Amino acid sequence: NTSLHEFDPAVAAAVDAELHRQQSTLEMIASENFAPVAVMEAQGSVLTNKYAEGYPGRRYYGGCEHVDVVEQIAIDRVKELFGAEHANVQPHSGAQANAAAMFALLKPGDTIMGLNLAHGGHLTHGMKINFSGKLYDVVAYHVGEDGRVDMAEVERLAKESRPKLIVAGWSAYPRQLDFAEFRRIADEVGAYLMVDMAHFAGLVAAGLHPNPVPHAHVVTTTTHKTLGGPRGGVILSTSELAKKINSAVFPGQQGGPLEHVIAAKAVSFKVAASEDFKERQRRTLEGARILAERLVKDDVRAVGVDVLSGGTDVHLVLVDLRHSELDGRQAEDRLHEVGITVNRNAIPNDPRPPMVTSGLRIGTPALATRGFTAEDFAEVADVIAETLKPSYDSDALKARVKALADRHPLYPGLNK
Ligand code: PLP
Repeated sequence: NTSLHEFDPAVAAAVDAELHRQQSTLEMIASENFAPVAVMEAQGSVLTNKYAEGYPGRRYYGGCEHVDVVEQIAIDRVKELFGAEHANVQPHSGAQANAAAMFALLKPGDTIMGLNLAHGGHLTHGMKINFSGKLYDVVAYHVGEDGRVDMAEVERLAKESRPKLIVAGWSAYPRQLDFAEFRRIADEVGAYLMVDMAHFAGLVAAGLHPNPVPHAHVVTTTTHKTLGGPRGGVILSTSELAKKINSAVFPGQQGGPLEHVIAAKAVSFKVAASEDFKERQRRTLEGARILAERLVKDDVRAVGVDVLSGGTDVHLVLVDLRHSELDGRQAEDRLHEVGITVNRNAIPNDPRPPMVTSGLRIGTPALATRGFTAEDFAEVADVIAETLKPSYDSDALKARVKALADRHPLYPGLNK
């Protein structure tokens, strides 16, 4: 029962340093967020000790009466949050949710369609060396010249290739998808429609983004991006597919569920149903809009910076650096130097290799969780714009970042 600091100072020091990093920098990786203390408390609980293969009321282990309660609460809350008929809250991650959903609906060798990785899709939507690209025959669709998914291409490719499953969803795309149109195309060719809402689930929960659940056979998500919970995955489906989905997760893909994480998911679903959460998602969208508007102004355009699709409808902005003196890696490093964390990102028709890229993905969920207002986001946007100019003043920009971080303390109660 020795504490972490006493027993393992080396690990404890790294954890403390990470806390300090999160507190003192501006986190703008679009897939990241800050989980509430109550979520972390559930995740750090004794539930980590419990084996619970199976589902509530039908377990392969004794002593599951309390984890049954927790898992059932998580299931009921997430169904209510998104209006779903069925929910499986056991996937350990978003990738595993997608693997299980595909395992439930497909056989190896079946054809799937997904958004090309460099056009904003995720690895699990059919990338060559991911399980999805190895097990299934992949036909990728793309964004058009306007930076939006080319639905005419989706329809043409679907008719040509007759996929068994169409995946709609993205990791790096600044606009909303037309779920009704995806479903119409899927129905026309007899395919399942799977929507991966990992990125925008929080916006959906807040009613600020169309809900894919009424349109899709299956909806997968992570719980740690805009949704702001613990790292993990969820699968929602129609009741008709419930049995297939459940047996694909366990015993199909996973063993014992992480009941401590499921408890944390349950807490985060309670948070996501609150008015505070809605208000936070509103600020998330507002912040992204403010950032996009700043990064298309003449002074940054003059140094070759642009915004893909000209703006955003969601929580992230994709910066186009094809005409900038900075490549994606240099821009990421430059922002890191002044205290802003983002990730470089391949963009459609990127002339540079994937480890370098010509894009940046910048998101606002974590800063909105931290309490950033429209005024703060305007200051962040200006700091980013100035940092991307050849004439940037590192020390002055660092001071502006520090002032913003100081204005919104993060996890003040966790400092040792
Ligand atoms: N799906 C999408 C759209 C994602 O963006 C991601 C993560 O980046 C995942 C799935 C995978 O989630 P995880 O990292 O939890 O496996």
